[in-house]
Order: sequence, then structure tokens, then C-alpha cells
Amino acid sequence: MPRQPNRSVYKTVVVLWLSLSIGSVVLALVTWVQLSRRLTASRHAFDVEVSSQEVLKLLVDCETGERGFVITGDEAFLVPMLAGRTNLAIELDHLVDIVRNDPEMLRRVAGLRDRISVILDRFESVNNTRRTQGFTAAKGIVATGVSKDLLDDLRTELGQIRQAPGHLVAIHLESTRKELLRASLTSLAAGMLGIWAGVFAFWLSRVMLQHKEREQALVEAKLQAERNSQEKTVFLANMSHEIRTPMNSILGFSELLDGELHEPRHRQYLKSIRSSASSLLQLINDILDMSKIEAGVLTIQPEPTNPREIGEFIQTIFAEPALRKNIKLECKVPDDLPRSLLLDRIRLRQIMVNLVGNAVKFTDRGSIDVRLDWEKGESSSQIVLNIQVEDTGVGIPPDKLEVIFKPFVQAGANREKETQGTGLGLAIVRRLTEAMGGTIFATSTLGHGATFHLRFPNIPISMRLPANEPQSSEAGGDFNQLEPALVLVVDDNGENRQLIASMFAGSDHKLEFGSDGLEAVSKARTLRPDLILLDLRMPGMDGREAFNQIRKSPGLEAVPVIAVTASTQLQDEAGMRETFNAHLRKPFSKHELFTEVSHFLPRRAQPGEPSERTTNAPPLTPSPSPPEFVAELHRLSKEEWPTIRDNLAINETKAFAGKLKALAESWPCPALAEYAQALAQRADAYEVVELEEQVNRFPDLVKRLSEPN
Ligand code: ADP
Repeated sequence: MPRQPNRSVYKTVVVLWLSLSIGSVVLALVTWVQLSRRLTASRHAFDVEVSSQEVLKLLVDCETGERGFVITGDEAFLVPMLAGRTNLAIELDHLVDIVRNDPEMLRRVAGLRDRISVILDRFESVNNTRRTQGFTAAKGIVATGVSKDLLDDLRTELGQIRQAPGHLVAIHLESTRKELLRASLTSLAAGMLGIWAGVFAFWLSRVMLQHKEREQALVEAKLQAERNSQEKTVFLANMSHEIRTPMNSILGFSELLDGELHEPRHRQYLKSIRSSASSLLQLINDILDMSKIEAGVLTIQPEPTNPREIGEFIQTIFAEPALRKNIKLECKVPDDLPRSLLLDRIRLRQIMVNLVGNAVKFTDRGSIDVRLDWEKGESSSQIVLNIQVEDTGVGIPPDKLEVIFKPFVQAGANREKETQGTGLGLAIVRRLTEAMGGTIFATSTLGHGATFHLRFPNIPISMRLPANEPQSSEAGGDFNQLEPALVLVVDDNGENRQLIASMFAGSDHKLEFGSDGLEAVSKARTLRPDLILLDLRMPGMDGREAFNQIRKSPGLEAVPVIAVTASTQLQDEAGMRETFNAHLRKPFSKHELFTEVSHFLPRRAQPGEPSERTTNAPPLTPSPSPPEFVAELHRLSKEEWPTIRDNLAINETKAFAGKLKALAESWPCPALAEYAQALAQRADAYEVVELEEQVNRFPDLVKRLSEPN
């Protein structure tokens, strides 16, 4: 295949072609102008020639008339002479007109006129002499030869006048010939170049066509690779689904067993089971994460997060392994670090677990310092979060500081320890950091330790305090904090049903079970549960179909349904969020189950506690309820409000208030305007509690504004 010429070749050819084209046009114009000038000059010379001949002819006529009269005395001979005088005057004027632009010629023609006048006067005097003194006297004057001399002089002068432009024309003709030659050569060159440019354009179009085909083939190959990668992700997701389901039982039951076993040996066995299961889960997650990142389907889900919690989390996980190696593990967090930031807590934990895990692995003595600090962000509601993980371990060779962030690359500073890993951790860390809008790099002094520097610019400060997550299984929620309820648990896997039952064990809640979609629908219709836990993948009627049937059943339109799934696919997750009231991903802990359930079952009133939260909703003016207004309110409530409620970020909330204000003004709706103003004021004043209350009033307001007047 011919190589595609580079840009400089194109440029040179185009410049050459353009300059030759422009040059030949300019040359053609110049040649044309000069040729037309030469033609004018030739015409001029011809006119001078004709006019001079005429003058000479008229003079000769006059002389002939004069001679005839002198010899014969017959006045008839003088007729041409009389006309000649007038004609000579006319011809001389014509000659003057021809040479009017040539001062030298004008001067000569003026001289000519004087001399002609002298000759004519002379002829006249000879004629008079013939009339008065007779033939002999007149012949005597003629015989002096003065008239002849004057006439000869005039002939010579006329000859010179005729020749002057003729000479110039000869010179011009020579240069015209040269110019014509030059113009012809240029046209020839332009023509040749034209042919060459045509051939070049043809060749170029072929090359470009071939390149286009090659590019298309590459795009095809890329799409195919992406399809393969997607398929790989789907395959891995399915595989992980199959592994997660039994893992749910392993981890769930071992969590429950933790409180039952007292014999140290048994507890040690249990610990091994739990740690092996956790590593297996970690490995699955790593591989899945990597394949999701490669397939470009990993999304970041920011939620209100207390950055201090990161430090506590690190201590909880790594305090014991560090202690075992006699390494000091310290997490330093400045006091003034905002308490709640909008971050993907799970991903940040994943990053930190990888970095601190590596630090512990590659450090045998000394210390590990995890430092968090912050700077002001672009606006007052954002900060720049910096995190450093520094250790005093084996360190990383300078030439490996960058490549260790590539998948499956290890630095080689400690082969023995490296065999425990896969080289995937830092690759995931870098991709996650970048997906969260941050950067990461490493510095190190070989043999003295390494430091990993993370920087997350523009992290929003959230006004919602982060959900308080207990760190250990013992802290899992007490279901008796919730009003006793009837819960329908549907799962085709008996062990999972049993696991959920065990998690509820000891509580006042009543559990009913179903093992497929059909049973879910029929039991929901007959039992009217307060809450349904519904597995999605079941043989026969699956969870989604069962959900649709339940929703269509009278009286069950609003029953809370929590989807339970082992799926890790993102589109599933997005779909679940839209369809179900909540979802739980297997394997889940008792605490996670409690957290989700507690969103739907009312808390048991403590003595002295008011049963319902009092709200001071703004008084409603008669509500406008045009359908477009109501539709927009519902859209905002469904699509935007949940994020505002969950994140309580100042800027987002203010923007939301702005939208409500605009909507209120365009209809108009004073109650909505009042609500929007209060919301904006609270966000401006950073009044966390009041802001949250105000945000939570929105669905109620939407409901009231949607009712017909
Ligand atoms: P893994 O630890 O599973 O091998 P990682 O991607 O987490 O994979 O790390 C890649 C390599 O980077 C490690 O194998 C090790 O060579 C080097 N490395 C990472 N962290 C440290 C550290 N704190 N000290 C020294 N070397 C490190």
C-alpha cells in the first residue's frame, strides 16, 4: 500500500501549484497589456505613414499645377493647387491629431506646417509673376531652384517623420516576440503542472481512500474489541453473581456464628473461613472492577462522607496487621476538615485499602502515616482534599514509580512479598482516583520507604451528615427498634431465606417466605405484608415480573419492595434504583439489611417522644394546578429532588431552589416561591438541620400543589 505523503509534501505542492498558476495569470495580463500597447503603436505608425504620404502627394499636386500654369498661363492648372492648400491644412490637422501624445512629433509637424506655408507662398508668388510679368520672368524664378530645394527638404523631413514611429515599431516587435515566447513557455509549464497536479490528485484520492478503508477496519476492530470487552464484563458479572450467591451464605452465616462460638479453636476456624471468604470476594471484586473500568462502565456515586471515617476505617482494618508486624500506624486528620464531603465513600475506601494494604505488606519496621489535609476549592462550598500514605518500607526504584500503576506490573523490590499480589491493585487505584476527578503519583527513596500522594480538587461540602455506619458486625442494627411488621421474604435459595430469618431472629417481626415469583404474588395478595424482600433471579416468574404483578394488585400499589440481588451489573443497578423502593446486594451484612429495612418500617416510639415529626409547612394559597405546572413539579420531585435529599450539597440545593423559583414565577405560585426562597436562604446560611427539614417538606408540598382547587 502506498505511504500517505506527509503534510509538508502537500504544502510544497500546493504552494508551487498556486504560485505557478498566479504567476501565469499575471504574466498573461502583462503580455496582453504590452501587446495591445504595441498594436496601438503600430497603428499609430501606419497612420503617420499614410498621412505623410498624403501631405507629400498634395504638395506634388500643387507643384505640378504651378509648373503647368507657368508654362501655359492657363488658370485651369491652378485648380488642384487651390484645393491642395485647403486639403493640406486639413491633412496637417489630421497629422497633429495622430501625434498629439508625442511632443517631439508635434514640434516637427508644427515646423512642417510653417515650411509648407513658405512653399505655397512661393508657388503663389511665381504664379503672380507669370500673370503680371509673363512666362520668362516666372521661368527665371523657377530656374533658381529655390522651390525645388524647399520641396526636397520637405520630402526629407516627411520621410523622417514617417520613419520615427516605424523604427519604434521594429524595436517593439522584437520585445513582443520575446514576451510571446515567455508567455508560451509559462503556459506550457502551467499546463504540465496542471497535468501533474491532476495525476497527483488522483493518486492522493486513492491513497486517502485506502487509508479510510484501513481506518474503518481499525474502527471495526476497536468496536469488536469493545464488544468483546463488554461480553467479558458480562461474563465476569454473571460468574461473580454465581459466586456471590453462595458467598452470601458463607459470610452471612459466619457473621451469625461469630456471636455463638466461644471455644478459641472454633473461633480461629471461623476467623479463617471469614478471612478466606473475604479475600475471595476481594479478588472477585478486583477482577470485576478492572473489567468494568476497562469496559468504561464504572460509575462514581458520591454520597455524604465524613473524611474522618476514612481514618477510622483504616485503623479498624489495619491496626491489627500493623501491630503484628510491630509497625506504627497513624492517621492524621486536621480538626478543621469539613465533617461531610460528597465523595464515593466505597471507592475511596477501596483506594485507601489498596494503598495502606501495600504499605503494610512492604514495610517490616518503622511506621505508616496516613495524612489527610485540605485547601480552599474553587468556591466556598468546595475543597481540595489531599491524602498521603507514607511508609518506611522497601521503597520503589525510581524507574518503576510510574509503571507500577499499570495492570500486572510489580516493582521487583521485594519478590517474595510481590508473589502474594497480582499487580492489579494500583492500576485500579489510579483509575478510580481519576474517575473521582483526582490524581495520584508515588515518590520514594529506595530502601527507605514510599509515599503515595492523592489529590481530589473541587470536592463539594455536603450539608447532610454522613450515615453513621458501625464498623463491626456486632454493631448491626436491632430490628426491635422498629415497629413490629409482617415481612415477606422471597428467594429460591433456601439458605438465603434461612440467613435472612436468622438475621431477624429474636425480633418481634413476623416473617413469611416464598420461593418463586408466583408465590411472591399470591402471598403478597393474601397476607398483605408491610414489607417485601424480593430476590430477582428466580426460576419461572422472576423478581421483576413478580414485582409488576404485585404493584398492579389492589391495595399493594405502595407496599415497599426491597430487591435482593447478587448482580453487579451497572445497568441492573440503575434499573433497580428506578423500579424498586430499595435494593440490597449480596453478600450483605445484618447491619446493611437493617439499614435498608429501617427506611420503610416506622421506629418504635420511645417514651416521651412525639409519634410524628411536626412540620411548619408554609401556608398554602389556593394552588394553581395547570397540568404542565404539575407535570414539571412531579418531574423535579422524581428526578432531581432525591439527589438533593441524599447529598444536601449547598450548590446543588441552591440551583434546585433557583429552578423552583423560576417555575413559581412563571405560573405564578406564591407557595412554591415562598418554599424556594426559604430553601435558598437556609442553604446560604449553612443551617444544616433547617435545610434538611425544608428539603424533606418538598414531596408534601408537591402533593398539595397537585391537588385540584
Ligand atoms: P500487588 O500489590 O497486588 O502486587 P499493586 O498494583 O498494588 O499490586 O502494586 C504493584 C507493585 O507496586 C507491587 O507489587 C510493588 O512492587 C509496588 N508497590 C506498591 N506499593 C508499594 C509500597 N508501599 N512500597 C513498595 N512497593 C510498593
